[in-house]
Amino acid sequence: MHFTEPVYRNPYWPTWPLLEVTRGCTHNKCKFCTMYKDVNFGVASMDQIEADLAEIATITPHARTIQLLSANPLALSYDRLAPILEKINEYLPNMEHIYTAGRVTDLRNKTVDQLRKLRDLGMDEISMGTESGDDWTLDRINKGYHANDIVEQCAKLDEAGIAYWHTFLNGVAGRSHSHEHAVNSAKIMSQTHPMLVGTGGLTLFPGTPLLDEAERGEFDPLTEREMLEELLLFVQNLTCDCSFITHHTVGGTNLTGPNFLERKDQIMAALQDGLVHANMDVLAWMRARKQTL
Ligand code: SF4
Repeated sequence: MHFTEPVYRNPYWPTWPLLEVTRGCTHNKCKFCTMYKDVNFGVASMDQIEADLAEIATITPHARTIQLLSANPLALSYDRLAPILEKINEYLPNMEHIYTAGRVTDLRNKTVDQLRKLRDLGMDEISMGTESGDDWTLDRINKGYHANDIVEQCAKLDEAGIAYWHTFLNGVAGRSHSHEHAVNSAKIMSQTHPMLVGTGGLTLFPGTPLLDEAERGEFDPLTEREMLEELLLFVQNLTCDCSFITHHTVGGTNLTGPNFLERKDQIMAALQDGLVHANMDVLAWMRARKQTL
């Protein structure tokens, strides 16, 4: 098998197999991310892909799921992606679900009809690193798209019948725009139809422009309490029916699961309880030990 580090396996998708289709990230400019900073974006050759599929087929010939690597294989054009999906189906004839990650911008060069064909070839679930639905924040962190792009491109996925995830990056707007980040992200995500909304908490990793800015006093990070308050505000304003998972340890596994709207009051109660009872020093200690996003 061919793998280029770092390999990110989505912990909520089946663990195996993974197939390298691309290396790195086409964008590689988000101010909080260093994940692929040492990797030039590249596309695996069809020879490499076929060799890996042949190997997978000898080990798990009845595989029904597969995750494409790396950051955003969705960036490939329809004409490059479709033959790869066809090869997956050829080598693994029981394939049912082809998972991939992608950026909102990766959908711009695909029509609904092309997306529908990709879904028919098995690509039926996409994890979008959306992070925010607030234009000021999206510009601030250099995501490379705006809120209207999220709504516009996700509508194409809805029409094509492809399920998608949003992530909300708690804390990434800093103190000055925390309120707008929470409210506008919830508002924009609620204008779409995600199968899942997940949240992640900002950690300022060495080598990120955002940490440099924080050290120069140009970015004012939230405290753990403010992170929790922002997360609560986001949840309060989120109105789409979906699954919900969160990075936050407050409330343990109670916060994660299907039927968000049914559980919304319970999730908010757990976050409010966390604001009263959680040990913010311990939360800060845990965040300081994080190694990756
Ligand atoms: S957050 Fe995602 S899109 Fe942004 S640089 Fe990192 S991998 Fe690329």
